[in-house]
Amino acid sequence: MQEQPFYRDTWAEIDLDAIEYNVKSMIRHLGPDGRVIAVVKANAYGHGDAEVAETALQAGAEMLAVAFVDEAVALRQKGVEAPILVLGASRPEDVQFCIDSKLTLTAVSLEWLMEAEKHVRNGTMDVHIKVDTGMGRLGLTEKEELDEAVELARKSEVLQFRGIYTHFAAADEPESDYTDRQFERFRQMLAGIDCSGLMVHCANSAAGLRFKDKIFNTVRLGISMYGLSPSSELKKSLPYELKEAMSLHTKIVHVKKLAKGESVSYGAVYTADEEEWVGTLPVGYADGWIRRLKDSEVIAEGKRVPIIGRICMDQCMIRLPERMETGTKVTLIGSQSEESITMDEVAERLDTINYEVPCILSSRVPRMFLRNKSIMDVRNPIIQSVFHSESR
Ligand SMILES: *Cc1c(COP(=O)(O)O)cnc(C)c1O
Repeated sequence: MQEQPFYRDTWAEIDLDAIEYNVKSMIRHLGPDGRVIAVVKANAYGHGDAEVAETALQAGAEMLAVAFVDEAVALRQKGVEAPILVLGASRPEDVQFCIDSKLTLTAVSLEWLMEAEKHVRNGTMDVHIKVDTGMGRLGLTEKEELDEAVELARKSEVLQFRGIYTHFAAADEPESDYTDRQFERFRQMLAGIDCSGLMVHCANSAAGLRFKDKIFNTVRLGISMYGLSPSSELKKSLPYELKEAMSLHTKIVHVKKLAKGESVSYGAVYTADEEEWVGTLPVGYADGWIRRLKDSEVIAEGKRVPIIGRICMDQCMIRLPERMETGTKVTLIGSQSEESITMDEVAERLDTINYEVPCILSSRVPRMFLRNKSIMDVRNPIIQSVFHSESR
């Protein structure tokens, strides 16, 4: 194992083999015509944008997607050269910059497309047209407008029409027929449009997992690339196993015996009922291990142990079943021997969805990347050479 290039014993491990497996599994599940756009917005849902992107591309994804131009720029600066679709609404004034950065933009309305066209000075802009079929967020809603946008995108000398897509609002809810209605609406919107040569996509992870015959030709794979189920309902009927890519660890940095009646942490809200051993962990709410996780559990020496007292900005305390050494590894998310704490468990404790948990893990937590179970340092500027020599 490589020496860890940081000086604090809290880190997230990203298992790139799991990312690779999850992407390949989706491609296999979709069959020969299925294509995958790897969604790496929000620093790849907190997992590390460039490392996940390169892994997904090697596993067979054809394109990357991010929410904002800045995220695409961050990938370009790290040497990622693959096509990148910006899913959000970009500024028409930034179009020339986006062309120079080789980005594919989303036309969120007919007006946007007309305005964006005016800002092209050099070269051509790759565009996917977004249709709103019921998400109510971005996209064209009227058939006539869509036809007009398609005609403009086809006729214009400065636009390259590459794709057309929509987004589902409830594909993770098997009980609901909302997705069927959105799908039908998308089909009506596409009527009469020649889609040959275009990427036509509607499916997020949930729809890709559930309806492989209804994806047109491309899935925008987000949450399930990271090994997480889009919802707990879907978890019961997954077409293939998902492998969770992220785990979160720390080490005990201080151990002490608490006498009966003594307290720990702010507010002194936790008081020992009897003599007990307490360990201090160098992780707190500024890392994304937020105060709401008070009273939850972590794993030390293969056993679940409780967090006690309030979580501080940089630290928190745990009650130990017996004395443990400083330097003992503690797992906050992930497995140790027989015990494991999943992202879903943490999400449930926080009363939120699993998507949010890795996203709120702050940049103060170093990400370590695993290949074949061992840690690799793929941080810039060597990311490309490491990747390319390892797997080709
Ligand atoms: C984030 C996002 C996705 C990915 O969704 P998952 O549920 O994470 O698979 C797909 N499409 C759009 C437009 C998105 O914003």
